[in-house]
Amino acid sequence: MVSYRALFNSPLSGMSPISPNEPRAPLIWTNALMFALTFAAAAILVPWYGLTHGFSTADWGVFVFFLGANGIAITAGYHRLWAHRTYDAHWSVRLLYLVFGTMALQNSAFAWCSGHRTHHLHVDDVDLDPYSARRGFWFSHIGWMLRAYPSGQPDFANIPDLKKDAMLDFQHRYYLPLALATNFGLPLAAGFLFHDVWGMLILAGVLRLVWSHHVTFFINSLAHMWGTRPYTEDNSARDNPVLAVITYGEGYHNFHHIFTHDYRNGVRWWQWDPTKWLIAGLERVGLARRLKRTPVFQIQRALLAMQFTRAQARLAKFPAAGPSHIEQLRARLAHEYESFLAAVADWARVKEQWLEEKKRAVLEQWEQVDVQSRLRDIERRLSQQLRRMRVLQAQLL
Ligand SMILES: [Zn+2]
Ligand SMILES: [Zn+2]
Repeated sequence: MVSYRALFNSPLSGMSPISPNEPRAPLIWTNALMFALTFAAAAILVPWYGLTHGFSTADWGVFVFFLGANGIAITAGYHRLWAHRTYDAHWSVRLLYLVFGTMALQNSAFAWCSGHRTHHLHVDDVDLDPYSARRGFWFSHIGWMLRAYPSGQPDFANIPDLKKDAMLDFQHRYYLPLALATNFGLPLAAGFLFHDVWGMLILAGVLRLVWSHHVTFFINSLAHMWGTRPYTEDNSARDNPVLAVITYGEGYHNFHHIFTHDYRNGVRWWQWDPTKWLIAGLERVGLARRLKRTPVFQIQRALLAMQFTRAQARLAKFPAAGPSHIEQLRARLAHEYESFLAAVADWARVKEQWLEEKKRAVLEQWEQVDVQSRLRDIERRLSQQLRRMRVLQAQLL
């Protein structure tokens, strides 16, 4: 469980922005105006209309519906389906993702996924990551879209699989008219339906767009700055349950950056990740299949490796022959590490045996069950060890 003290241990101020040595990139006027005008319109029109005319329940209802549909289309569609291919979805689901993903106004799926794959490949690199958090909050949040930075130039060579998809190709070709049609057409239609065109345009049109934009942008900015790193410190991505609540589960970004092919971001059953529940639900009703899950063992191994690194770093602050309780902790840590290595070796051995036998096709059903239970035993050993390590870690604070 993430403690809130740990959550705030990595504040924004902990990172000083670095800029690459490059000439000032030219402003992209269309993007700058779109972001500035929609933000200003939301800030002025929403309170003005609210005070002078008032919003109806239908205005709020449609606002929430479009907001959720846009968010889910980006997380379950653009992100987990197309950028990372963590599952397969029925065409009807893909069509809905495409309609509401277009409405979210975050560029075509081609451009979005290509940039996102580059982000994962070169995460934190100031020259190559299109929204590198090392270039500061503003840049990673929105600044990267305001100027034509070299790192932001699209290279569709990394989306050969997506380019074969006729639906995505159509969206890319007609992106602008489709984006305008969904952003004006859908709120307008709702306005006529509920007899409040202006209220609907302001709430379900403008406020919905601005809100949906910044919530997604938080994944590139805040989710790389604020939170904990239980799985890896190889990159700046953070797990943050607070962000997960407003981003449909994308706040578990540290897990996501190490296990990118998992359809879940919040991997534990209790972690708030409505996108994973939706995908699992779609699988239940036959609209999604081939969901990719990271083996439990790999997750535990990553968690334990981080625990050992942290405990070792903390113990290293004490003198070589420190106070007796520190020496005891050192001995316990060494012992835990040995048993961790033994479990990892056991796992590799059982797994290799299993694969060998499978290859020779001699594995009977009952033998398979036996192997599975041996592997589960090792997982149990590791989860007990994780609990012991957390106790040990607490003693080192
Ligand atoms: Zn991703
Ligand atoms: Zn990221």
